[in-house]
Amino acid sequence: MDVVIVGGGAIGLSIAWRSKERGLDVAVIDESFGHGASWAAAGMLAPVTEVHYGEEAVLQINLESSRRYPRFAADLTAASGRDVGYRQSGTLIVAPDGDDFAALNELFAFQCRLGLDARALKPSEARSLEPALAPSIRGAFFVEGDHHVDNRLLVGALEEACRRTGVELIEDRVEEMVTTGDRVTGVRLGDGRSMEARTVVLAAGSWSGRIAGIPERARPPVRPVKGQLLYLKGSESSPLLSRNVRGLDVYIVPRADGRIAVGATVEEKEFDTTVTADAVYTLLRDAYELIPGLRELELLEMVVGFRPGSPDNAPMLGPSTVDGLVIATGHYRNGILLAPVTADEIAHLLATGETSATIAPFTPTRFSATGVAS
Ligand SMILES: Cc1cc2nc3c(=O)[nH]c(=O)nc-3n(C[C@H](O)[C@H](O)[C@H](O)COP(=O)(O)OP(=O)(O)OC[C@H]3O[C@@H](n4cnc5c(N)ncnc54)[C@H](O)[C@@H]3O)c2cc1C
Repeated sequence: MDVVIVGGGAIGLSIAWRSKERGLDVAVIDESFGHGASWAAAGMLAPVTEVHYGEEAVLQINLESSRRYPRFAADLTAASGRDVGYRQSGTLIVAPDGDDFAALNELFAFQCRLGLDARALKPSEARSLEPALAPSIRGAFFVEGDHHVDNRLLVGALEEACRRTGVELIEDRVEEMVTTGDRVTGVRLGDGRSMEARTVVLAAGSWSGRIAGIPERARPPVRPVKGQLLYLKGSESSPLLSRNVRGLDVYIVPRADGRIAVGATVEEKEFDTTVTADAVYTLLRDAYELIPGLRELELLEMVVGFRPGSPDNAPMLGPSTVDGLVIATGHYRNGILLAPVTADEIAHLLATGETSATIAPFTPTRFSATGVAS
């Protein structure tokens, strides 16, 4: 086998599909394909509205991946025969009151300094875009380039594209990385079977640092950042919203089938899967302030996921300090957005041995003791 990929979320599956397209023999191993963070996510493709102070380096790769999304979505639909719910409808950032308006104005100024495309709107202009907005909103900004995709359709389509292109999908867990001398040479599965590979790609999201047998100097420092998100049932034929709407602490993302995702908490609680009353209360309270009509909708689902966080909130992409082991994790809040660029650039690395300039700043070796790949 040329490549064995540990983890079948949006990242592992998209790398597998793009690598197979380049003629490599690929297997992906996961007990539950597509049901990690990639299932729990909201599906926003939001390099601008998700920009945080101090994360300018990540912004560049986020923007690059956003530019690649139309092609990625079209290729994936062709390869899988499935729509992935990619919608280019922009994002409204809305301030319900004066305090939030002041904070959002600062964020807007920061976005403008970075050269990003955001536009201030009067409340009446915002309401003409989204009539369901509260009449009392204080102001809004429109970011035309921040879109969304249905992340659950996306992982389903990726799995199907892998199947159709001949990627081997193995339903099992990796118990251990196998090393020979100073090199990772394969994996041992839950059923006891061993698989050899020229390269093992570690794409197990928040669990990437916990797999046995990874040489310590190459173990990625990933931590789970818990997020709780809920779904409301809206109408498919007369949707309440046509684009993402967000405030300072909440976002609301409409799906083509009428469901509306409201998210999300950000909690440092390890792998705690508890759904809390406080999360339900806070998310709905903040969402009602922006869109009062949400009160009428049925509460469908509450979901908990774990964002794979890294020490600097940037992804880890590329060769590790151990030969035979490539790392693709740490995508934190933006793994759905970053799937196209991660898949293209890691597939390029696997096919050619070259690390592209796009991912070079995100080398996993930046966290290792020596900082150099062997
Ligand atoms: C509430 C929430 C909202 C989010 N919203 C957005 C958003 O709007 N936009 C965005 O871009 N990103 C968003 N994210 C972040 C995004 O979901 C993640 O960055 C992305 O899904 C990471 O993908 P992944 O494939 O690395 O991880 P995962 O999807 O978690 O996949 C990892 C896989 O590895 C498997 N695995 C673990 N251990 C093993 C093992 N030993 N052997 C084999 N397989 C193993 C798991 O079963 C899992 O399927 C959100 C995350 C959360 C939690």
